[in-house]
Amino acid sequence: MRFLVSGAAGFVPSHLCDLILSDDHQVTGVDNFLTGNARNIAHLARNPNFRFVEADVTKPLPDLGPVDCVIHAASPASPKDYYEYPIETLDVGSIGSRNLLELAYANNARYLVTSTSECYGDPLEHPQVETYWGNVNPVGPRSCYDESKRFAEAITMAYHRKYGLRTNIARIFNTYGPRMKLDDGRVVPQFLDQALREKPITVYGDGTQTRSFCYVSDLVRGLYLLSQSDERLPVNLGNPVERTMVQFAEVIQQLTGTRSKIVFEPLPQDDPKRRKPDISKAKRVLGWEPEVSLEEGLKPTIGYFQSIQTGAIA
Ligand code: UDP
Repeated sequence: MRFLVSGAAGFVPSHLCDLILSDDHQVTGVDNFLTGNARNIAHLARNPNFRFVEADVTKPLPDLGPVDCVIHAASPASPKDYYEYPIETLDVGSIGSRNLLELAYANNARYLVTSTSECYGDPLEHPQVETYWGNVNPVGPRSCYDESKRFAEAITMAYHRKYGLRTNIARIFNTYGPRMKLDDGRVVPQFLDQALREKPITVYGDGTQTRSFCYVSDLVRGLYLLSQSDERLPVNLGNPVERTMVQFAEVIQQLTGTRSKIVFEPLPQDDPKRRKPDISKAKRVLGWEPEVSLEEGLKPTIGYFQSIQTGAIA
């Protein structure tokens, strides 16, 4: 199959490209490098099944050739990035989705959009099931991301209902692993960077808020399975093992052996208090569940960040 992956130079999409290529398919990766990094796909430069096109999917696209499956994974994805690029974030979920849905329609191709657990906002139901409609502040600082992804889901369903397009919607929960940006502000790179530099580990609020962290290889396996499935409604993909941010900081202290101490800083506005995916649907329709524990997944992640800090990875 010929895949098109938008945001290919980003953290999650670059791993997805690797997985698709390892299954002997062809991939055209597209990215405008707003938040992506060429380093993430540099190893694919000589792969004859991979082609890279530098383009912005919110603008008219160059001729990308025939395609069988479009995966729209482009977007700023960390709070720090989407606070910095709120308009671009809204554009890529709206105009970008529209452009790529048209491309899929013109090619009679499948289409998968990477949505987010942020669709649930600061959830009032726990754990989050796909049928929960969420608790989103439509004008808060996170709304550029949340509403962009909610629009992306809505327009995906509209193309499916109106034109019978074979679409899938993945709601991705917190994911971590090598190729995350060291300075993207998310809690995994932030705590690791602080721990490895022996700087204070900055827990926001009282640290009782929870997240559930999925290792990237588990996540992209779920995305790939979903892209070939007939499930049209959203499917949660994430690891259901939930931790408070204080517990998470302690795991980081333990695994890195750092002398860094935990310090407390103000909680950002609208920071969700609890987040944990209900993955019964993914288990049922995809036969998927995460296999990598936090301790297992953090080891290669720590190794990656050490290589970045020492300059071993340029
Ligand atoms: N967080 C923290 N310290 C940091 C960065 C983040 O305590 O230095 C907290 C943040 O307030 C949130 C959780 O970690 O409760 C996860 O934040 P992240 O930015 O990784 O992603 P989110 O799940 O909020 O989109």
